[in-house]
Amino acid sequence: MSEVTLKGITKSYGGHLAIPPLDLEIPKGKFVTLLGPSGCGKTTTLRIIAGLEQPSSGELSLGGRTVYSGETGHFVPPEKRGLGFIFQSYALWPNMKVDRNITLALSQAGRPKAEISERLAEALQKVQLQGCGERFPSELSGGQQQRVAVARLIAARNAILLMDEPLSNLDAVLRTEMRTELKRLSRDLGATTIYVTHDQVEALTMSDIIVVMKDGVIQQIGSPYEIYHQPANLFVAEFIGDPRVNLLDGELFERDGRSVLRLRETEIVLPYMLAQTAGPVRVAIRPERLTLHDRPTANTLPAEVDVVQPTGSQTILSLSARGTAMTALIPRFVEAWPSRKVWLELDPAGVMVFDPATGGIARPVTTLTRHVDAA
Ligand code: ATP
Repeated sequence: MSEVTLKGITKSYGGHLAIPPLDLEIPKGKFVTLLGPSGCGKTTTLRIIAGLEQPSSGELSLGGRTVYSGETGHFVPPEKRGLGFIFQSYALWPNMKVDRNITLALSQAGRPKAEISERLAEALQKVQLQGCGERFPSELSGGQQQRVAVARLIAARNAILLMDEPLSNLDAVLRTEMRTELKRLSRDLGATTIYVTHDQVEALTMSDIIVVMKDGVIQQIGSPYEIYHQPANLFVAEFIGDPRVNLLDGELFERDGRSVLRLRETEIVLPYMLAQTAGPVRVAIRPERLTLHDRPTANTLPAEVDVVQPTGSQTILSLSARGTAMTALIPRFVEAWPSRKVWLELDPAGVMVFDPATGGIARPVTTLTRHVDAA
C-alpha cells in the first residue's frame, strides 16, 4: 500500500521548471532514498512532501489523506502533516536542555506527563544518551547532537520520517555508526522513511528502494541490487558504484542465435540474447568484474597497470587498455602488481550493453541470466 503518493507534482522557480511532472508511490514501512547529483531536485521533492515548499501543480497524499491539491488549492501546513524530520542541521533549540528538545513537540501536543517521561527515557536509552538529558546542545559533540535529533524522532513516533542529508556534517566513523542507527530506527519504528542523499554508499547501504533522479526526472526506481546490477541507463550505471563503472565502445553482432560483442579484436559471447542484434554499443562493466592475467585467455583485452591503490581489504588498480582508462577491483591487499603488461578478463555475465544514442540499456529477449550469481 502506498503511504506517500505524488501525482503529477511540479515545481517552478520563476521560469525555471525544477521538477517536471513527478509521479512517485512510496510503500508503507519502506526506507526509500532519493538519490542524485546536486541540483537534481531531491531536496525540493522532500520539502514538498514536508509541506515546506508549495508545489506548482499536482496532487500529494500522505497515508491516504490529500495534503496538497493543485486543482482545489487545498494545502495542509507542515505541522499538521504528522511527519518526523531530521535535517543536515539538527535544528536543536540551543537554549533548551536535551530532554526539553526531545519532548517539546509532545508537550505542545498535550500528551500526558507520564507518557512523555516514558517516551523520553526510551528515546535516550535507544541512542545511548542516558544521563545527558540535563545538558544543553552546546555541551555535546556533533555526533551526540545528532543523536538528540534521532531521539526526538524516536519519541515522536511518527509514521513517516523525512531525512535530508542528515549525516553529511559528521566525520567518516560517526557517519558509518549513524547510518546503522538510522536504519535501525526506521526498522524499529516500522516507519516509512524518505531519505535524501547524493551519497551512493548511504543509498545502497540503507535503502529498501532507491529512486535515482536527474534534472527533476526519475531515472530508475529499484532495490539497491537492481540499481547496481541492472541500471536502467548509462546515467545510473555511471552514477552508482565506487570505483566507477568502466565504459568502452563496442560493436554488437549475432552469431548462432547468440549476441556477441566485439571490443577491438576481442569477441565476447554474451550469456543472453539482446533485443538489439547489431550495431555500435556502449559497454559498461563494474571494476570487480575484471580479472587480471599474465597471458591472453578468453574474453581478455591487453592493458597496462598504471597505479596500484590498496584500500585494506581490496586493491584498486588503474589501467590503460590501449588508451582507454579502466579500473579493476581486486578483493585482496596488493602493494605492487608484478608486471605492467597484463590481460584484463571481462566477465561476460557482468557486461552491460547500452544504446550509445539514447543511453538506454539493451534489453535481453531471453530470460535475464546475468548477475544472478549475486542474488
Ligand atoms: P543538492 O544536493 O545540492 O541540495 P538537490 O538535488 O536537492 O541538490 P534541489 O535543491 O531540490 O536539488 O534543487 C533543484 C533545482 O531547483 C535546482 O536547479 C535549484 O537551483 C533549483 N532551486 C531550488 N530551490 C530554489 C529556490 N528557492 N529558488 C530558485 N531555484 C531553486
